[in-house]
Amino acid sequence: MIIPIDKQHQENLDNLITFLKTTKFLTNKNVECAFRNIPRHEFVLSSDVDKAYSNEPFAILNNQTISQPAVVSRMTEWLDVKKGKKILEVGTGSGWQTAVLSFLVGDRTVFSVEIHPELVEFAQNNLKKLDINNVNVILNDGGFGYPDAAPYDRIIITAACQKIPSLLFDQLNQNGLLIAPVGDSSQSLVLLKKTPQGIVEIKNESNYVFVPLLGKFGKQ
Ligand code: SAH
Repeated sequence: MIIPIDKQHQENLDNLITFLKTTKFLTNKNVECAFRNIPRHEFVLSSDVDKAYSNEPFAILNNQTISQPAVVSRMTEWLDVKKGKKILEVGTGSGWQTAVLSFLVGDRTVFSVEIHPELVEFAQNNLKKLDINNVNVILNDGGFGYPDAAPYDRIIITAACQKIPSLLFDQLNQNGLLIAPVGDSSQSLVLLKKTPQGIVEIKNESNYVFVPLLGKFGKQ
């Protein structure tokens, strides 16, 4: 479903997309299409609606943030998200990244695990406003993944890991991809592939800052 957005939002969205293209954070037509169809202003707090199409993260609930658009486009593009791919997301937050993924996989269900109950509710409400029905938000510690629906073709972790929880690799298909920010105060975005020879690093880019992964496998 395509929801018309008002003129000011549309202009701001067009400017954001031009900026992301110029800076090469957005290069893929399908991801651009997802950005145009998933209105970010529906995923921020009411105080930030007017700023929703600036390239910034914003505080949501529980000291967490909605990710920066450049980061969402970079991660989505690297993860090579296509129709029919089965995805697990760790860290639903506002549900915006989740909605972008759900747009790209077509009818396939996206599984997204969030540790804070208030954010599970926030994300579910945001997704419901847009009639997005192919997302299953699960309240749990995502460091354990979501074995009930495993294996996955793609896994995305949207919180900083000191070490990627190994259970997630067990839930990844052969030739599947996993993306995560890895590091302490500043992180590298790493894209990994599960191959018969083991886990192989495909891409790595430094200087990202994410909120830390919580729970059993998070920062102690
Ligand atoms: N991509 C999201 C924001 C992610 S912020 C968006 O654009 O809105 C990271 C999220 O990961 C937060 O919502 C945080 O509560 C969640 N999180 C942190 N540790 C987690 C864990 N162990 N399991 C599940 N979710 C976790």
